[in-house]
Formats: sequence, C-alpha cells, structure tokens
Amino acid sequence: MESPIRQVVIVGGGTAGWLSACLLAARLPELTVTLVESPNIPTIGVGEGTWPTMRETLASIGIPEAEFLRECDAAFKQGSRFDGWVTGAGDDTYLHPFTLPPLGDLRELLAAWQQVAPDQPFAQAMTPQGAVCAAGLAPRQRAMPDFAGALNYAYHLDAGKFAALLMRHATGRLGVRHVSAEVCGTRAAANGDIAAVLLRDAGELAGDLFLDCTGQAALLIGGHCQVDWIDRSDVSFNDRALAAQVPVEPGSPIAAQTVGTAHRAGWIWDIALPTRRGIGCVYASRFLDDDAAEAVLRDYIAAKVPGADAATIQPRRLAFQTGHRARFWQGNCLAVGLSAGFIEPLEASAIVLIELSLRRLIEAFPADRAAMEPLSRRFNDLFRQRWDRIVEFLKLHYVLSRRTEPYWLAQRDPATIPERLTESLELWRHLPPSPRDFPDFEEIFPAASQQYVLYGMGFPLPSRLPQPSGQALARISEVRDRARAMQAGLPENRSYFAALAASAPERPAAAS
Ligand SMILES: Cc1cc2nc3c(=O)[nH]c(=O)nc-3n(C[C@H](O)[C@H](O)[C@H](O)COP(=O)(O)OP(=O)(O)OC[C@H]3O[C@@H](n4cnc5c(N)ncnc54)[C@H](O)[C@@H]3O)c2cc1C
Repeated sequence: MESPIRQVVIVGGGTAGWLSACLLAARLPELTVTLVESPNIPTIGVGEGTWPTMRETLASIGIPEAEFLRECDAAFKQGSRFDGWVTGAGDDTYLHPFTLPPLGDLRELLAAWQQVAPDQPFAQAMTPQGAVCAAGLAPRQRAMPDFAGALNYAYHLDAGKFAALLMRHATGRLGVRHVSAEVCGTRAAANGDIAAVLLRDAGELAGDLFLDCTGQAALLIGGHCQVDWIDRSDVSFNDRALAAQVPVEPGSPIAAQTVGTAHRAGWIWDIALPTRRGIGCVYASRFLDDDAAEAVLRDYIAAKVPGADAATIQPRRLAFQTGHRARFWQGNCLAVGLSAGFIEPLEASAIVLIELSLRRLIEAFPADRAAMEPLSRRFNDLFRQRWDRIVEFLKLHYVLSRRTEPYWLAQRDPATIPERLTESLELWRHLPPSPRDFPDFEEIFPAASQQYVLYGMGFPLPSRLPQPSGQALARISEVRDRARAMQAGLPENRSYFAALAASAPERPAAAS
C-alpha cells in the first residue's frame, strides 16, 4: 500500500501561501504544513479587493470578522462601479453589485423593469444594493453575527497587513511551521516528482505535496515541472500597473464599492480603506508609456481625492504577464496564486481563485500518490475552464465599450475576442444570460454578473420579451421598498468603522 500524503510544503509567503497554509491546517489538521519563504524576495504587495467567498474562508479558518477588519484596515466591498467605460462621458457609470437579481425568469424581470422603473439603471432596479452603495452604507449592522449581512459583500483590505495576520494565525493558532529561507532548487524523485526543495545554506525540506506560491517566479510549476505558460495577452492587453497609497482626510466617506474609471489606454482602480485609498493605474504598455500613465494617475488623484498632494505621491511600478499555466497541478506540485497565472486586476479574480483552488484541493485531498493522477486531471480541467471564463468575462467589459481611442478600438477587434464570448453575445441578443450558460456550481462570474455588465453597459434587451407576470412586477417593486428600508436601517461605512475602532479590546501595555 502507498504511504498517505501527510507532509505539505508551501513555498512562498504572500497572500497565496498564507491563505493556503491557514486553509489546509484548519481543515485537514492531520497534515503537517510547513511554509518556507524567502526573507529577501518581497511579496507583490497589491491585491486589495476580494470576493464574497472571503467571508466563508475567514470563518472556516477561525478568524473573527471584527479582528480581521481591524487588523487589515479592511472595509466592505459590495461590488464594482465602472465609470467612463461606455462612452467616457460624465454620466457614464454602472454598478456590478454582489447581490443577485430577484429569483425568477430574467426575461420577465427585464419586462417588469421596463414597465415599473424604466429610468432606473439595471442594477438599481434589480437589487437594493444599488441604493445602498450610492449612499455609502455598510451591508450589515454591527449587532449581526459575524459574516452575516443584509446584502452580499466582500472586503477591501491592506494586502501587507492581511498576509501578516494570516501568518500570525497560521503559526500561532493552527500549528503551521514557518521557515525563513530562500529556495534555490529542488531534488527530484525517481518518478520526476519533487522529493524536496533545497534551501540556501539551510539544507532541504522534504514533502509529499508541494504548493508553488512563489508568485511570478513560479519556481516549482515553471522551474521543476516545466509546465507551459499560456499567453492570453492577445485577448487581455493590460500588462502594467502603477500602485499608490493615498492618505485621506479624517472622517471622509468610505466608498462601498471598488471604483474602476476608464482612461484612454486602460483604467484606474480606487479602493477605499478606513485609513487611506489604494489607487492604481492599469494600462497596456503597447498603448501608453509609464510616464504618461503616471500623469493619468496623478490627474485622477488630484481630481478625486480631497486634500491629496498628487505631486508628492510615489507610485510603485509593476509589470505582469497575462496568462496562466497549461496545467496547475503536475505530479505532486500544485500552483496557487500568481504562479498559476494572472489576468489583470479588473473584477478582482485572483484571490478568489486561490480560495477556490484550496477548496477543491481540500474537498478532494489525495489519500496517497496514486490518487493524485485522477484528482489532478479533474482539477486541471476544472481550473482551465475557470481561467477561460475569467478571460471571457473581463473581455466583455471592453467589447461593449463605445470609446474610440486606439486602445478601445483594438479591444473590439473581432480577432481579439474569444470565440465563446462572440457566440454568447450573439445568443444574448435573443435570450438573456442564464445559469444554463454558466453551470459550474462555484462559478466566479455567474449569469447575474454577466447581466449586470451587459445591461449596465446598454446591451440591447431581447426584442421579444414576455408580458411581465404579477410576480415579476411585485419583485421589482419589492426591490424599491427594500432599498428604502435599508437606507433607513444600515449605518454609513465611516460610522461603522469608527464604532468598530472605538470598541477595540485594549492591547496590553508594553513593559517599560
Ligand atoms: C497590479 C495588481 C493588482 C491586483 N489587484 C488584485 C485585487 O484587487 N484582487 C485580487 O484578488 N487580486 C489582485 N491581484 C493579484 C494578487 O495580488 C495576487 O493574486 C495575490 O497577492 C497572491 O500573490 P502570490 O502570493 O501568488 O505572490 P506574491 O505576493 O508575489 O508572493 C510570492 C512569495 O514567494 C516567495 N518566493 C519567491 N521566490 C522564492 C524563493 N526562491 N524561495 C522562497 N520564497 C520565494 C516570496 O518571498 C513571497 O513570499 C493584483 C495583482 C496585481 C499585479
């Protein structure tokens, strides 16, 4: 009989490494989990927008919500608002909220929307979250149980503080062993697996399963395993970002959603935390050089952040490759995080993929080496499909634009649009996106996400809509009633976080 898989070695201590360590140690306590990270190679240090899955992740690893919010300077994220994506004109804005439209046949809901509230944007008609976001309210009251909300929500957070919290939790409460050393090579087993990773001046670490969380270095999946990289830059053009942290005036409002503002060759993210705003310019180097991008970023900060001195901000320059591995699990090595791939920051699809990779690994953890072959085949098929869906969904935001700068025209060149997306768009002219088009039970961007983007960007409604049933009409009216009730009952984000800070347990005084 083969020996069981017991020793897991995680290489890399960014968000991917520490999330993996916490999830494995919390959910499979019979494992011995060791995380090795280089003291000299920094983490990427960005990744401030999460997906609602993060609530379940935090609950399952045992971090209380208030502790997480305080330690990571986190705030609530209820979706993404897109400014300037359709025409670039002043009133060009739409919301992709996290709360789903009411249940029921979408064609009937579309018809009811047209009958009851034709002047309202789609998202505002379909969920009270539109009104709650516009008012800058929190999705929950403080008295609610941890991770429960009146509406679906995720978080904005400080990536450095998040990795530090996960590290403390993993090592202090979950028994993860932390090794600070640079991995400088691998020792291969007879079957080609990784038998051990070699540490500079510190021996080696043997294991049964290795998680490659080394970020863009992809030391194990690209190095030892030599798994091919699939370039997706033909579809997704952005390959650079400038990231800045901008102080805010005390007491200033905290936005309830990520704001993505289109510019002539990309877009700017704006993520509000209680203490600062994370603002970054994403662009395609083929269409904009770094200095011009920095000017775009400074102009945005000067216009949008009261009191900020845009001239003194020193943004960090980041370059990223757009694509993913041909396989994510090869032999006894699983790539998680940036080592597996990355398709620009739009819609924050990266950390959620880390969570889903770990969920899948944990629910189908290989008992022994023989089990890895079929499990890895299934894993690779599933995640290849997920990467394809992400590429298509992100491209949808560009394809529906009517902007006319060269970058935006190039984004709409049919040769750059994945075939499945072209076919879907043709279908959706007649039949709105439905769960049948997105059957994965953990679909990152389900039919509702496609609907919010399509109808937010003015995609034509199917020409033949049915008469709305009484039930569909009632559901749309109900959204308006619930929006009024929530506006009266939910606290403003700023007051939520002020009250949270005021209720923080006192830290023990430092010994003098
Ligand atoms: C501009 C930008 C914005 C983004 N925004 C978002 C967002 O809003 N939401 C989202 O979900 N995602 C976002 N992402 C992606 C997100 O940042 C990453 O998915 C996430 O941080 C995970 O990174 P990582 O842990 O894989 O890699 P990293 O953070 O790069 O960590 C790599 C680790 O590997 C270690 N390492 C490397 N080589 C060695 C070695 N030889 N030996 C030992 N250790 C080694 C390093 O020390 C480090 O600890 C963004 C990415 C970019 C580029």
